[in-house]
Amino acid sequence: MADLIAIAEARRRVVDAVRPLPAEPVALVDGLGRVLAEDVRSGIDVPPFDSSAMDGYAVIAGPAAELEVVAEARAGHPAQVALGPGAAIEISTGAAVPEGATAVIPVERTEPVEGGVRVPATEPGANIRRAGEDIGAGAVVLHSGDTLSAAALGVAASVGRAELACARRPRVALLVTGDELTEPGLPLPPGGIYSSNAFALMAQVERAGAELAVKEHVPDSADATRAALAGALDAADVVVVSGGVSVGPHDHVKAAFADLGAEERFWGVSLRPGKPVWFGTRGDTLAFGLPGNPVSAMVTFQLFVRPALAALQGADPSATRTSAVLEQPVARNRRREQAVRVRLRAGDGAWGASPTKGAQGSHVLTSMLGADALALIAPGEGEAPAGERVEVELL
Ligand code: AMP
Ligand code: MG
Repeated sequence: MADLIAIAEARRRVVDAVRPLPAEPVALVDGLGRVLAEDVRSGIDVPPFDSSAMDGYAVIAGPAAELEVVAEARAGHPAQVALGPGAAIEISTGAAVPEGATAVIPVERTEPVEGGVRVPATEPGANIRRAGEDIGAGAVVLHSGDTLSAAALGVAASVGRAELACARRPRVALLVTGDELTEPGLPLPPGGIYSSNAFALMAQVERAGAELAVKEHVPDSADATRAALAGALDAADVVVVSGGVSVGPHDHVKAAFADLGAEERFWGVSLRPGKPVWFGTRGDTLAFGLPGNPVSAMVTFQLFVRPALAALQGADPSATRTSAVLEQPVARNRRREQAVRVRLRAGDGAWGASPTKGAQGSHVLTSMLGADALALIAPGEGEAPAGERVEVELL
């Protein structure tokens, strides 16, 4: 690990190595969080016809009058007659405005009279929603690279789309290494710890829109590591390994990747926590060796794996980057950029960032609790003062 590279350089190498995944049709019900692989153009006006914004009476706009009620227009049931002078048509919200009508008068402003209704004066167009007021036929409403939100799914449905072309979800193989690791729910043997990374990383994979294809616990043996990685490289678009990537006698991950033909793209980033992070590729498959320390594993996933999963789906890998202002001073690290777990608070025209309570060591997983973002603190002497604007990566 002679030359540590900067976080930005490491991210660049990751994103540059990505070949976006092909698209597949996705039903709207399965679309939440998926990334669009097409521009969605509306074939229709929305609303499709002029419709009433109120319950009331469709009229020909003009002075106050007593009108005969000749028909009813309900949502989904247009009136069968056109409106002529001296007449009104009872109308519901969402019903098509009858032919001949130029305004709708809300029922609260009318008064029933013998055989009809008394209406006040009204202007043309009152309480009418015009066809195409929301979306005009031919308009592009959603764009390739958009992540489908609840609103986006609603808009797609409003233009009549039942399916959307989305990038295939990246398949991730997650391997956690370590003889000490114990499944939660089992008793802890002497020297054992519970495998928190398996669960935190699994959730991060899911949150990034990817699919867990393989999840495996690998003991600290060279043969077992090579066998597990061989299977993972064959099965997945992205292989994520936690632990075993360092230089100890029982760390076998880098050697196994090398044996299996994965080409190293970086080893070691000028980052705290998360320096011992490895990235390589074999063909289009991306491989990450993350440090085993729980905070380092989550931080390096967020900074390097998540952008890869976004780029594989054609989404902007930097969509989670913004800036914030430090609300209290943060001690700098002399040589490495720090990823400090912070809470964000809405301030005057900027987010305010303050570190989560307690110690921030790479093994102190509780420092991730309640963190909204990682604040990236440039290396140097002394401290980053309160008021300094820093880049943050939203969690
Ligand atoms: P390693 O990177 O394998 O040297 O592990 C570094 C530290 O992280 C050690 O203290 C490990 O016990 C711990 N660790 C490794 N994997 C996990 C895991 N899955 N869950 C929790 N801690 C882990
Ligand atoms: Mg280990």
